[in-house]
This record gives sequence, structure tokens and C-alpha cells, in this order.
Amino acid sequence: MDALVSQMKPAETAEAWLANFGQAMQAQDAEAVMDCFQSECHWRDLLAFTWKIETMNGRGEIETQLDETLGQMRPRNFHIPAFRTPPRAVSRAGMDCIEAFFAFETAVGACSGIVRLVPDPENPGDVKCWILMTALDEIRGHEELIGERRPGGQEYARQYGPDNWLDLRNKAVKYEDREPAVLVVGAGQAGLTVAARLSVLGVDTLLVDRFQRIGDNWRHRYHSLTLHNEVWVNDLPYMPFPPNWPVYIPKDKLANWFESYAEAMELNVWTQTELTNGSYDEAAGVWNVTLHNVADGSERVVKPRHVIFATGVSAIPIMPNLPGMDDFAGTVMHSGAYKSGKEWDGKKAVVVGTGTSGHDVAQELTTCGADVTLMQRSPTHVVSLKQAQRVYAHYFEGPPVEDSDLLATASPYPVMIQSFQLLTKSMLQEDQDLLSGLEQRGFKLDDGGEDRTGFQMMYLRHGGGYYFNVGASDMIIDGRIKLVHYDDMETFVPEGMRMKDGTVVPADLLVTATGYLNLQDTVRKFMGDEIAERTGPVWGFGEGQELRNMWQRTPQPGLWFTAGSLAQCRIYSKYLALQIKACEEGLLDREL
Ligand SMILES: Cc1cc2nc3c(=O)[nH]c(=O)nc-3n(C[C@H](O)[C@H](O)[C@H](O)COP(=O)(O)OP(=O)(O)OC[C@H]3O[C@@H](n4cnc5c(N)ncnc54)[C@H](O)[C@@H]3O)c2cc1C
Repeated sequence: MDALVSQMKPAETAEAWLANFGQAMQAQDAEAVMDCFQSECHWRDLLAFTWKIETMNGRGEIETQLDETLGQMRPRNFHIPAFRTPPRAVSRAGMDCIEAFFAFETAVGACSGIVRLVPDPENPGDVKCWILMTALDEIRGHEELIGERRPGGQEYARQYGPDNWLDLRNKAVKYEDREPAVLVVGAGQAGLTVAARLSVLGVDTLLVDRFQRIGDNWRHRYHSLTLHNEVWVNDLPYMPFPPNWPVYIPKDKLANWFESYAEAMELNVWTQTELTNGSYDEAAGVWNVTLHNVADGSERVVKPRHVIFATGVSAIPIMPNLPGMDDFAGTVMHSGAYKSGKEWDGKKAVVVGTGTSGHDVAQELTTCGADVTLMQRSPTHVVSLKQAQRVYAHYFEGPPVEDSDLLATASPYPVMIQSFQLLTKSMLQEDQDLLSGLEQRGFKLDDGGEDRTGFQMMYLRHGGGYYFNVGASDMIIDGRIKLVHYDDMETFVPEGMRMKDGTVVPADLLVTATGYLNLQDTVRKFMGDEIAERTGPVWGFGEGQELRNMWQRTPQPGLWFTAGSLAQCRIYSKYLALQIKACEEGLLDREL
């Protein structure tokens, strides 16, 4: 730990800085606020000042944003709340600092913040802000209907009327007499979390999924799947997992929990219901969305003001056009259609692609008795499961999950890059044995993407390109899974795959684990080119420093997106729901 930082008293240091900062903010004096920052500084705002998820880097950008928003947002009452983790000395992205949670209010409502303070180079006894994060917690007058604000239940209790709670729930879910304010398409974790947040805010929300049962998105994945990250980071909002749950949750257990969650949170869900097309009525400011019941073929047009795509990144598979593939006499399927290896016992399979799905399918087929050849097309970043957990390290530092979730939002893009570069370097060292074993087998390794930021940035930028070793790498190393390279293949033939050296790899099954189209293409498929073009690409960073079009207003009024890991869905569903609530209450324009 830096000598200056370790000598500081975290609580006193943070209190003193916050007193100055709070006073300057309350006085709406941007110049005085800027005195609290060092020259290299970053501010990430989640709605509190900008009504956007936005990153400002450097004094110029921060001051401009303050000038634009201080007068409107009128921040005040800055203090360190007793219920949060107290200020402490920590190391973030290789920098030692004092990290403190704080609370404040704006004209809109209650907010939280995190500040990371470092010694002032010009006056080492003093501290300046290196990183600031501010986030809207709740909208005054429109808070979540939980705890003391929970519904009284008068409409069905003590009045002995004709409808009890169940009758009212059954009526609510049918939408016979009203339109939903929000339609959420997709009832995986992304859809469930935002629907729960919206209904707790009192926003009438219909959630649809084409699968038969909630949770089928996980049930239909390969047989042996358990979650890749540990139970403590995966809770859904409002309902933490029971404390006896295993560290790595099996997919069917999670699927059943999703079903219980929808029931317990009283979500309005239509299963076996597929969005088939939608258009936007500019004049009325509503969507016309056709929902197709896949069980009975019926259709219903709903007219919500907001549509949230929670269809996952895996809605439209990419099928590669491999040489000679049409001549292959065996079974061909995309990894998204692969369910179980049991029927391939004793058979021969080729799996194309060495991302997570390719490895997982190859491993399961091998375990089920198939003879598997994995075909690598491009170098892949491999991380052991143990090392992969390190990106969630702050969840194990002690603070409760609410504090850890705020911490997870508090690293702006440049700091995230720095942090992941350091982490990736260390992970590569720790995983040396695994990686050299793979290299000896001819596996082409990627050491962490274009700027060596590792799997986390690959996921955020491209949605994949890496593998957490849950066993397939060991099978490649010991030869149970054979490895060939795309460049060495000549063509598929009826009996398998002919290599350039003339040998034939026999196969009964070809699984293409070759990924999925971008969410913008999902929009294109259902809403047409015009809306897809207006919306632009979804996910990945593009020019900006935030994920494109994720969890915030898009160029298409009333169109929203959510996706990601369980942790991301838990964290960002809150901000998405707050914006829609604000739109519904006339506090925020749906137009970006
Ligand atoms: C093998 C594997 C392991 C993973 N392990 C982890 C892990 O350990 N931890 C973690 O956090 N993440 C993990 N992930 C990543 C991520 O959490 C999952 O991909 C997750 O399923 C994403 O959730 P989602 O709700 O965004 O999308 P999905 O789960 O893909 O759900 C989308 C839903 O939308 C529905 N849908 C799509 N189109 C339509 C339509 N037109 N009409 C109606 N419904 C539609 C689908 O039926 C589906 O139910 C893993 C992923 C894989 C593949």
C-alpha cells in the first residue's frame, strides 16, 4: 500500500473531502467542485445528473457536464451514510486510494455515490478525487413499493368482495381490459429482472417468452451445465438465493428458481408467446406489436408505450458456410440447437469453434461417449475457472451485495481497461501450466484481446472469444478431445471432413458453435430495417465509453435493451426501470 495512503485515516479523510465537495456542489459552483479533482480524473454517472449512463474523463469534460446539470439537478445533503461500508484504503486498477460511499439528493430523488481519493501531488497531505461515480437510487414520490410502502392488499382483503387475490392476479395477467405500459420480450434473467423492478415501481409490465416454461432458456442448455461463476454474485433482485445453495448453481435448479421468482414477484408472464413483428406509431407514441401464441396459433396485437428487448445475444444463430458442408451426410446443427450428448454415445462428432459453446459441447459429447474432434478457427483466450472468479473479487471483500453492485459500476472505461490489463497479466501467469499444456497440443491461444484486457472486455466488446476451463481444456491436453485447425481442412465430404493432407476425419455429427448475430439484427428481424438503422448497433463500445444502447434510452423512442450476466442484469435493470418510470411519470422525455 502506498505510504501516504496507508498513513491516512480513511473516515476522516473522506469526511473532510466530502464536506468541501458537497458544499461546492450544493452551491452549484462548478469551479469549486473542480478544485476537489486531480488532473487525471473520471466521473461515471448513472442517471443522477445526466439521466444517462455516461462517462466523463478529465477536468474539461467533467466541468462541462457540471455546468450543464448542476442548476437543474440541484444536488444537496452530501453525507456518508451509516448503513454503507465505511471509507477504507483499497487498491483499484493498481492505484492505492481511499474509497468512500456517500449519499446525496437531487431535485429528482435520493442518490448514491462512490469516490476514490488519492494524495494530491501538489499537496501530499491533502487528497483529490481520482474517480467519482454517482447513481440515482429512487425517484422522489415514485419509490419502489417495498418494505413500508408495500401494498396494503385492501382490494382483496377484509372487503369480502367477489375477487380474492388469485382472481385479481388471474385477471391482471390476461390484459383483457387494458394494454401494458411495457412489453418485455424474453423471460430469461434479463427480462425477469427488469420486469420485477418495473412491477415493484408500479409500472404495468407484460413479459413474454416463446418457450413453454420460464427457465427453459437454461433448461434447454447442455445437460451437465452449472453456472460458471459463484452463487454470491448471481442473486436476482429482491430475492437472494437460499443460503444452502451450491457454489456453482446447476442449470435446472436456476431454471426452476426463475419460475418461482416470476410467481413470487407476481410478474405478468405469457409463455409460449413469440414476438413476430412490431411497428412504432409515431403520432400515438405507442408500439403495435404482434404476439403469436406458439401453442394454439392465435395472435394478439398489444400496444405498449415501451418495448424492452431481453431476447439474449443468442436469438439468431450464425450458420457458417463451410466448404463442402452441403455434401456432409451426417447431422448438422448449431450449438444453440444442441441439447444433450446421450444419443451420440459411440458416434463421431466434429465441433467447429473454440469459444465457450464449442468447448462445452465438445466436453459433453466426449463425456457421453462420443469421439470428438474440435476444429479451431481463430486463437482463443482460455482462463481457468479459479482465475475467472477474480473479476468479482470485490464481492468477496466483505461489503453486502448492494454495496458491491455499486462498486461494480464505479470503474469508468479507462480505469476498467487498466484494471483488466493488470488482472489479465496476473491470470496468464497463474494459468501458465494450463496454457502451456494447450500450446503443446497445438491449441492457438489469444493472450487477452487487442489490448490484453482479457475475457471481461472480450465479453463486453464482442460477447465472446474466450473459454473458462470447466474441463474441456484438460480433455484437449490429454487427447480425449482431438484438435484440428480450420486452415488444415480442405472440405467436408459425405463421411466427414477431408484435411489438406488427404486424411479424413470421420463424423456422424457436425456442431457449429459459431455464435449469434448482434441484437440490432434481432430488431431488424422483428421491427424492420428503418427502426434497426435508427437504433444502431447494440452492445459493444463503438465510439463511446459505455455499452451501446444498453439499459438507457435509444435513438428509437420507447425501445430499450437489457442483457448480460446475472450480475449485470441485477445491477442495470434498476437503472433501466427507473428511466421508464420517469418517462411514465412525465419526468423524462422518451426521445433521446
Ligand atoms: C454455457 C453458458 C454458461 C453460462 N454461465 C454463466 C454464468 O455462470 N453466470 C452468468 O452470469 N452468465 C452465464 N452465462 C451467460 C448469460 O448469463 C446467459 O447467456 C443468459 O442466458 C443470458 O440471459 P438473457 O436473459 O439475456 O438471454 P437468454 O437466456 O438468451 O433469454 C432470452 C429469452 O428470450 C426469448 N426470446 C427470444 N426471442 C424471442 C421472441 N421473438 N419472442 C419471445 N421470446 C423470445 C428466448 O426464448 C429466451 O428465453 C452463460 C452462458 C452460457 C451459454
